[in-house]
Amino acid sequence: MLVGDERVRAAGMQVNDGLDRVEEAARDGGRVVTAGSLRELGHAVAEWGYQRVPHAIEDFNELVAGRRKPRDGEHDRMYNASPLVDPPYFAVEVQPGITFPFAGLRVDARTRVLDDSGSPIEGLLAAGVDVHAFDSVYGGGLGLSLTTGRRAGRTTLESATSTVHAH
Ligand SMILES: Cc1cc2nc3c(=O)[nH]c(=O)nc-3n(C[C@H](O)[C@H](O)[C@H](O)COP(=O)(O)OP(=O)(O)OC[C@H]3O[C@@H](n4cnc5c(N)ncnc54)[C@H](O)[C@@H]3O)c2cc1C
Repeated sequence: MLVGDERVRAAGMQVNDGLDRVEEAARDGGRVVTAGSLRELGHAVAEWGYQRVPHAIEDFNELVAGRRKPRDGEHDRMYNASPLVDPPYFAVEVQPGITFPFAGLRVDARTRVLDDSGSPIEGLLAAGVDVHAFDSVYGGGLGLSLTTGRRAGRTTLESATSTVHAH
């Protein structure tokens, strides 16, 4: 479940597009609630099966405000380290998903998959998100998929043509 306050909601709004993600989720039939206080929010989401949400937010606020130390397994936050203290609060039930993995098969410029020694594996191509392309900075998945997909297609044609010629 995604929880935030008015500051978070305003920051997440794509004002130029007039898009308010919380409102959008509600319009699309998602489970969404807004509430004037943490207590009220807690009551609303308890009906969805989520317990002790106000406590979790207060606990988070204590940490990021520096009023308590991180516990075992908790890390100091580098980003978004601001307490949630600006009502109204919102909660949206969400589902996690992977937009792009920073891992994959190494390929050459013809999208042929490389083995551990860096040699192409005969007959094995990879494209799109299955390719290892980015190490730390995301450069867009659709462009990568389009280019590597088309290149893999061309490699297949090249292989077919060279096989025909060989015979
Ligand atoms: C929420 C979200 C937002 C994103 N936003 C952006 C964005 O703004 N810009 C951007 O550049 N990228 C974005 N991405 C990433 C981008 O969508 C992906 O990187 C890209 O679509 C990957 O393309 P692909 O062809 O490699 O894989 P996919 O698009 O996943 O295509 C794989 C296809 O194979 C099919 N398939 C799977 N198994 C089988 C099987 N056994 N038999 C037959 N078919 C099968 C699947 O149904 C699917 O259609 C986003 C991704 C997500 C999830």
